[in-house]
Parts: sequence; C-alpha cells; structure tokens
Amino acid sequence: VILHGVARSRAASVREAIPEVMRKQEGAFSMLFLTPSDLIAIRDARGFRPLALGRLGDAWVVASETCAFDLIDAQYVRDVEPGEMIVINEDGLRSFNPLPPQEHSMCLFEHVYFARPDSLIYGHSVNESRHKMGKRLAIEQPADADLVVPVPDSGTVAAIGYSAQSGISFRFGLVRNHYVGRTFIEPRQSIRSFGVRIKLNPVRHLIEGKRVVLIDDSIVRGTTSKKIVRMVREAGAKEIHLRISCPPTISPCYYGIDTPNKADLIAAQMSVEEICKFIEADSLGYLSLEGMIEATGISADSSCVACWNEKYPTRITSNAETMWEREHEPVPTEG
Ligand code: SF4
Repeated sequence: VILHGVARSRAASVREAIPEVMRKQEGAFSMLFLTPSDLIAIRDARGFRPLALGRLGDAWVVASETCAFDLIDAQYVRDVEPGEMIVINEDGLRSFNPLPPQEHSMCLFEHVYFARPDSLIYGHSVNESRHKMGKRLAIEQPADADLVVPVPDSGTVAAIGYSAQSGISFRFGLVRNHYVGRTFIEPRQSIRSFGVRIKLNPVRHLIEGKRVVLIDDSIVRGTTSKKIVRMVREAGAKEIHLRISCPPTISPCYYGIDTPNKADLIAAQMSVEEICKFIEADSLGYLSLEGMIEATGISADSSCVACWNEKYPTRITSNAETMWEREHEPVPTEG
C-alpha cells in the first residue's frame, strides 16, 4: 500500500513522498527504502515496532533487532525514534521528524516472546526483561515444587529468573530438537502423529517423581500446553504447576503479530481455573499486567498491551483483519 502511494505521489522526491504517504496511514510500520542515492529508514509515529541504528566503521546500519549488529561486529548507537525518518547517503546521516507526533505504543509482546533475548528492544535488554518477568512471577505465583523447568526456548530466561527468586533448582527437563523449525512440513501422515513430541522431549530421569514448575511465555490456544503437560506427566512428574510470564492473552493483534482470532484464544473463552482444568495441570498462574510492564522498564503510557487488556491504541474498524485472517483460509462452514 505504501509503495503504491509512493509510486503515485507527485512529490518532488521519494524522500518527500514517503512521509506524505505515511501521514495517511495508521498502524505499525518500521521500514527501509533503498533508492539509487539514499537509504531511508522510517518508523511509525507510535513506534509499535522496533528499529535500531548502528555503526559499522564509517558506515551506518539499520536493523529491527540489535542482535543483527552483533553478527557483523557493528555497534548499536540508538533507536530510530517513533515518527523519525533517517536519510543516509554520501553526505552522511540526516534525521527528520516528518510525522505528526502521537503517543507512543511500543509492542511489549516483543519483550515477552517475539524478539531474541540477545537483542536490545526500545533500548532495553530483552534478556533482562524476561529474567525480571520470571523473578516477579515467582513472587506473584509461587509454587511448592522440586524443579523449575522451562518450555524451551521461549520460557528459558524467565525460568532462570523464577528459579533465582524462588530458590527452586533450574533444570532442562525438556529438550528441544533444534533441527525442527516452525516451517517444518510433516512429510507423512505417520510422522504428524508425533506432534509436539518431535520438537520437545522430556528428560525422564530428571522429572520422574518430582513436583515440577513449568515456565512458558504464553498460552495461545491451549492445545500445545495441554500436550506438554501430558508429556511431562507421562515422564513421571508427581505434580505440574504451569506458570506463564505474561498475563492471559485475550485479544488478537492488528499490528503484525500472527496471533489467532479471539474465538481461538483460550483465555478469551475460559477463566484461569477452566484453562488449568483443560490443560490438565495441577495449578496455573499468570504474571500480572503491572508485573510484566515493570519488568520491561518501559513506561505503561508508551506501550501497547492490547493483547492483554483489549485497549487498542488506534481505531480498529469493523473490517480490520489480523495477520492470521489474512494468511489463513477461513474454515469452511457446512451447508
Ligand atoms: S496487540 Fe499485542 S502483539 Fe499486537 S502490538 Fe499490541 S501488544 Fe504487541
């Protein structure tokens, strides 16, 4: 949409056309444009998504996550600010603020799950945020247990924090198969039946006879959590207490994160007690919204937390689609 607008613009240059088009848009955009003379980076005025600026020798580099700078030995300098446009060319770097200012709405899901823990997002360490979420979770949702076990990899850092705060031993009681990614396409029907098992395998000799605190970053539909709880129980766990390092996910994202529709979000349909029963855990506890925000160090006024409180920072029109709706075929109805 934006590229189309830039192509149709009567502005004198691409540099002027980009803000002209962006002023008419509402939503989450962190973008780079490459023209024959300029590299142009722009972030929407609310700053939903991250965009970082780095230095590589005499050159400037831009990335959505700072871990990309580490790969090429570049140094993180600062974030591209919400509403800022940076133009880099042979004259160096120039910064503009061409968009009308808005309240900031930085997505905190980046800190809970989306970003890599070796990145700085909005200038704050993701690893530090997740560790603090785990510590806070141990205070808010304690459990009498023998082991803290992460659901790898997303629950690992929070589990280390939970263990540090509670004094309960941290062990890798579930092992993740790193050779199977999200894009894995099961080649045969017989292999599909492995399901979650092909990605995660419990370490029976650690788990057997133990009361286990399982730490994960979120429960979306509940079906995966149920399979993991069952798998840990079949490996001999005496009790399973599931702890989640963010609040219940009750609303879908309209800003580019691929969460399912509200109808498929288990926390939008069931109470915490009902979810606990559904996933067959002995207890279930979530981190509070306040605890999660505090752990990131980002002010509540500058954050988007709509998937946990349904307060969307922008208008959501009746025909707005989530990424899930755009990318998944509707389930056919009978008749
Ligand atoms: S709705 Fe949730 S995932 Fe989407 S931008 Fe807001 S906090 Fe992030």
